[in-house]
Amino acid sequence: MKKNRFSRMYLLLACFTVLGVFMFEVSSGMNYQQQDQGSVYLPFVSQENREEWDAQAEEADCMLIMDSAQQVSVGAVEQFRQIFKDMKVSYDLVDLKKRIPTDYDGYKTVVLTISQLGAMGDRVLTLSDWVKGGGRVLSTQTLEVDDGFRTLQNKIGIKECSGGNGLVDKLVISEKFMIGADTFGVEDAYESALNVSLQDDCTVYMTTDGAYPIPLVWENSYGKGKFVIDNFGLCEKATRGFFAASYSLLEDVCLYPVIDASLFYIDDFPSPVPSGDGQYIREQYNMNVADFYANVWWPDMIHLSKTYGVKYSGMIIENYEDQVSGELKANTDSSRYHFFGDMLMSMGGELGIHGYNHQPLCLNNMDYEGETAYETWPSEKSMENAVKEVLRFAKDLFPEASVSTYVPPSNILSEEGRELLVTKFPQIKNIASIYFPGEQAYEQEFEVAEDGMIEVPRVISGCNLTDYMKMAAVSELNMHYISSHFLHPDDLLDPDRGAALGWETLKAYFTEYLDWLCQAAPGIRSLTGSEGAGAVQRFYQVDIDRVDEADGISLELNGFVDEAYLMMRVNAGEIGTVTGAELEHITGNLYLLHATADRVELNYAERDLGVQ
Ligand SMILES: [Zn+2]
Repeated sequence: MKKNRFSRMYLLLACFTVLGVFMFEVSSGMNYQQQDQGSVYLPFVSQENREEWDAQAEEADCMLIMDSAQQVSVGAVEQFRQIFKDMKVSYDLVDLKKRIPTDYDGYKTVVLTISQLGAMGDRVLTLSDWVKGGGRVLSTQTLEVDDGFRTLQNKIGIKECSGGNGLVDKLVISEKFMIGADTFGVEDAYESALNVSLQDDCTVYMTTDGAYPIPLVWENSYGKGKFVIDNFGLCEKATRGFFAASYSLLEDVCLYPVIDASLFYIDDFPSPVPSGDGQYIREQYNMNVADFYANVWWPDMIHLSKTYGVKYSGMIIENYEDQVSGELKANTDSSRYHFFGDMLMSMGGELGIHGYNHQPLCLNNMDYEGETAYETWPSEKSMENAVKEVLRFAKDLFPEASVSTYVPPSNILSEEGRELLVTKFPQIKNIASIYFPGEQAYEQEFEVAEDGMIEVPRVISGCNLTDYMKMAAVSELNMHYISSHFLHPDDLLDPDRGAALGWETLKAYFTEYLDWLCQAAPGIRSLTGSEGAGAVQRFYQVDIDRVDEADGISLELNGFVDEAYLMMRVNAGEIGTVTGAELEHITGNLYLLHATADRVELNYAERDLGVQ
């Protein structure tokens, strides 16, 4: 729920019309069975114990090269720290400002985060010689034309270079390269790619569109090794998956842990319904808001859930008042909550909490920067009472439900509020806030925090996905093999979220996304909030010990409990028999490996010696 709509929403609230004009196929006493969450969550493993596993890792596989004198490199290395942490790629970071590498012995890969190759001086030849002998190099940033570039130009596959940059307003992705490959628009596009033409034997994975497309990602064999070049320039949280996919082109077989989850959260649901009319709903459906939700929107959402196998996680809110002190008034109107909540759970969905009201868990040290719609809580005790009250409310309504997911209102959560959840409410095991940075936002990575709280960010939202969100969606499918989405029932009331387009249009957009996801990742697991959090635990704590042999690859999965998912790209050779895991082909040479044991053996059916 966005802030600017909050006051209007508040005004709309009043007594709630009893549901049941057209009761759809639902009765309020509907049976549901919540899955036993004992097996969903893993016991918490502290960093201390995890470090033992990490210590077993061999020497670093990758040399990550940065130049702290180049701004672009400083930003890129920040992204790569997280990309490699998630992919479990061990690396040594070398800063060219301090030292220029004189050899690459012992490394499997080298990743460059610089745009000025000239910073390597003559040593750029040491790098190309290493590739010639079998090394694998990924250049991640759009290169500038300097001496270093001119030295490498032919070796990295460039035929001609005009020297200027070209506009990257479209990403045309090859199916060989990424899951969910398609053509994507770029928001705030700029001239972020070097205008080049390539030698004929390069493999091109991504281009701009148009009559003279600029190559954005390509691979060029050089001697016994290869270069992979990223030339799109967009380096941020929303493009991490593009770099993960590029990195996975380097080694003959690349393996990295993924989450494998499709998550759909419905915020503010169930919640008190606004009484009266919404302008667009009245115009388009000639109904009041309450009837529209019950008789149009929800049946459509059920239909989508059934058609696409989506599981909804609904985030309960008890009221929209701004009471933050004193004895908190309980909401006694349960019919609407039963109507939606029972049905949601009978469809395999789950309930979590959004709040007693929509005031973020923040004390008066929080600066809302002029935002007046929010109250702060006068004390930790008052925040505690509020969480206690909404949990009591949920328990009274749905005694069988195990509530373990918390979505912070407006994605805002103070340190104190978070601490409160950890210390006072052990049943709350995961927080689903937001992946991307934003003002005051509680920004997350997919991880297990040091205090055991599982962080499960939502990546995209709403029905009408912007180009930016579509790009983020394809990125995350390749980075973590995840779709993490949220929407609000009251999107239909807010012009900022497309209300004027009307529900039919928004539904069509949402269906488009679901179609894309289903086609891109037909086998991806539809999970609830708690199941998704359990999947994040398994993803986060697994670490891969890998031994490459002539006839195959042996994996030892440290931190493995019952299952793990790895993305596997087979660039050379062919995998035959597999033990300890199942393989599912996704696209191109990408496979999802579902490990069911802590030891996995992959045997080559055919051992191609890569690019030799
Ligand atoms: Zn909300």
